[in-house]
Amino acid sequence: MEQQLLIYNTLTRSKALFKPLHAPHVGMYVCGPTVYGDAHLGHARPAITFDIVFRYLTHLGYKVRYVRNITDVGHLEHDADEGEDKIAKKARLEQLEPMEVVQYYLGRYHKAMEALNVLPPSIEPHASGHIMEQIKLVQEILDNGYAYENQGSVYFDVAKYNQDHRYGKLSGRNLDDVMNTTRELDGQHEKRNPADFALWKCAQPEHIMRWPSPWSDGFPGWHCECTAMGRKYLGNHFDIHGGGMDLVFPHHECEIAQSVASQGDDMVHYWMHNNMITINGTKMGKSLGNFITLDEFFGGTHPLLSQAYTPMTIRFFILQAHYRSTVDFSNEALQASQKGLERLMEATVKLKELQPAEVSTISIGEIRQKCYDAMNDDFNTPIVISHLFDACRIINTVADKKASLCAQDLDELKGVFSLFMNDILGLKQETGSNDEREVAFGKVVDMLLEQRMKAKAAKDWATSDKIRDELTALGFEIKDTKDGFSWRLNK
Ligand SMILES: [Zn+2]
Repeated sequence: MEQQLLIYNTLTRSKALFKPLHAPHVGMYVCGPTVYGDAHLGHARPAITFDIVFRYLTHLGYKVRYVRNITDVGHLEHDADEGEDKIAKKARLEQLEPMEVVQYYLGRYHKAMEALNVLPPSIEPHASGHIMEQIKLVQEILDNGYAYENQGSVYFDVAKYNQDHRYGKLSGRNLDDVMNTTRELDGQHEKRNPADFALWKCAQPEHIMRWPSPWSDGFPGWHCECTAMGRKYLGNHFDIHGGGMDLVFPHHECEIAQSVASQGDDMVHYWMHNNMITINGTKMGKSLGNFITLDEFFGGTHPLLSQAYTPMTIRFFILQAHYRSTVDFSNEALQASQKGLERLMEATVKLKELQPAEVSTISIGEIRQKCYDAMNDDFNTPIVISHLFDACRIINTVADKKASLCAQDLDELKGVFSLFMNDILGLKQETGSNDEREVAFGKVVDMLLEQRMKAKAAKDWATSDKIRDELTALGFEIKDTKDGFSWRLNK
């Protein structure tokens, strides 16, 4: 059956039927990380949320071009036009080139995403690789009269823009609110209005990341990159722009203003935002200093953690809430997720072992369509999970021989688990910790050496030598001892 997908659009504050501009193609742009530190739980949420969108749209048959950028320049501290560039600051503190900082943390970010089974996007453009496109965008806004230059910096003229268009339509703010909440900051004397934001900043002499432009040697304002790169890879109009709710203002509001000021209209059809992860009710964030990194979760090494949590537990924990609801971190909540996920994983194993009966004595219901209905209702993953738990109860009842299922129903359940649990929710069986793997590999070496002892006892020297030589070639040091053998890996 053709699925009717509803997506909540932050701009209209309502759900609307998803109609791509150029089906079967779908363009999706998601704001990626500023790579100056290890990814934390707050980073996992947008990555997993839009991974679900990417997986589901792909499953529905769309050809999705998913662009997730890497912010490696222009993101100043405090997210406003003040302070030091976040990456340049880290580079200065660690005496590295800014791009060394970027390379290091980007590699670690990719590793963490892979552990969470987040699929890589189609394109991962870097802001620093798209300075030309950003300069062009700034020039267009200047040419259209919605920006002005002062002392080598270029600022967006919010008041002028607001006369012709509406600044604040995404966040629901009006210009007075914005002006009343804008603090007196560095560089404010260069602005005509405190609500104006930087499109290009003239670099101070000590600023290391700088590029030539028609206005000064400097760097682009943070909001420019997404407008410029979204347009470059997805065109003047594309389907979905996503990110965390904390980006609605100012980042995405400024992106809309830049887009309208440069090309006359907004590029984006559906604005999607995931809610935040909180600790005791406050947002988790690096700039807030109350974050737990993903590596700390995987290793259980943060003082707030009572144990280690596997990547799949973290993924399941996040998917147990709808993406527009907040998720509050606690050990109890994570432990409950861990148990829930174990129950589901055990059920999939049992499911494979169940023998079909002539007839089913228990109904599996319309489980497939129920899962689709939940996904079609703005990606309602907690409801999908509750349907999988219902199926889990049926599987356990059948495994306990209190009911039976026919071959067709068993196949249907297997298909539903494989589609929704593995392909769409992206949950997979974890293969144990590294330690467990090493123990398993060690047992394989023991097994081989026992075969060698048997060969020696049977005076089958060819086999005995072959096992020893091949293990030696792989780097194993093998010794014959009084009671048999010992070995170690020289690597
Ligand atoms: Zn962005």
